[in-house]
Amino acid sequence: MIQIDGSQGEGGGQIVRSSLALALVTGRGMAIEKLRAGRAKPGLMRQHLTAVRAAAEISRAEVTGDVIGSSSLTFRPGPVIPGEYQFRVGTAGSATLVLQTVLPPLLIADGPSTLILEGGTHNPWAPPFDFLSRAYFPFINRMGPRVSGTLERAGFYPAGGGRFVVEIEPVRQLKPFSVLERGPLRQQSGRVIFANLPDHIAQREVEALQRLTGWDPACFTVEKIDGMGPGNVVVLELEYEQVTEVFSGFGEQGIRAEEVSRRAIDAMRKYLVADVPVGPYLADQLLLLLGIMAWQTGKKGEFRSVPLTRHSSTQVDILGQYLGVISTVTPDENSKNVTVTVHLDR
Ligand code: ATP
Repeated sequence: MIQIDGSQGEGGGQIVRSSLALALVTGRGMAIEKLRAGRAKPGLMRQHLTAVRAAAEISRAEVTGDVIGSSSLTFRPGPVIPGEYQFRVGTAGSATLVLQTVLPPLLIADGPSTLILEGGTHNPWAPPFDFLSRAYFPFINRMGPRVSGTLERAGFYPAGGGRFVVEIEPVRQLKPFSVLERGPLRQQSGRVIFANLPDHIAQREVEALQRLTGWDPACFTVEKIDGMGPGNVVVLELEYEQVTEVFSGFGEQGIRAEEVSRRAIDAMRKYLVADVPVGPYLADQLLLLLGIMAWQTGKKGEFRSVPLTRHSSTQVDILGQYLGVISTVTPDENSKNVTVTVHLDR
């Protein structure tokens, strides 16, 4: 059993999800102590508990400590069983983060899987569904598997009730990638997605996007969708030859429509100024996949990104502890940006 300190580094839910994913990939059990000790409300929350249960279901794992508020967890997986599964968070907690847990092992399982995920699909501080489908899945597909997602219903905080379906065609071994530049820009777009809110909010958001980006009005769309409660997100997308990045701004009570657009634009501008292919969120999510690839194949993978976030450096530490995989971080000569090379210590 591997012993994981849940308070290390970033000290939140990501350590739990990554440890579960790596337990499933390696078949090696683990015990986490001080679970989410770095958070104001420590211990397992609904979203993390759903991830634990999902990981247990696909591997018939023996689990202890799988209750809300638990600060320790043991997890002994059996072999991963691909197939059809449905996972429900039951609150507006992020269903995309539940997917983050079970997807890596299912990418290299013995057969295809279909997952139905229910809960939050567009949560601040988690990958929005559009980020998964447009930024994350294309990278996975580049590594060999075929993964696609369909959003059936959006789930916003606090009502939740979203639902999406993910189809997975696995491969035996993941392939490496090297993404050091973005390549030429192919497409840029902005979407205003809203549910159960007045139309003028979306209109003002689009106007702000047009004014702040200077893009052709044809680049923008407004999508009025069904949702259990009110919700609003602005999603900007930059599609380059080597990478697609997605930036979001979330509507909140008391926040002006123009401010929602400005938040998404700020995130995009930071990315544009940094002049790297991989943004900070994609970085921590790709690290896990590259770590598994390096462990499986002994090959190296690499990408250029902004300086590592705490989420990314924590991911690096977990990959080292679980897989013996090394992530070498080399700063650029003229900036703080870095190239991360993930390889096996052999
Ligand atoms: P906590 O313990 O803090 O409550 P959590 O389980 O809700 O944690 P984190 O551990 O903070 O979540 O992990 C959040 C994950 O969501 C990270 O992988 C991060 O890259 C991703 N993420 C957060 N915001 C975005 C965003 N705007 N776009 C894409 N991915 C995002």
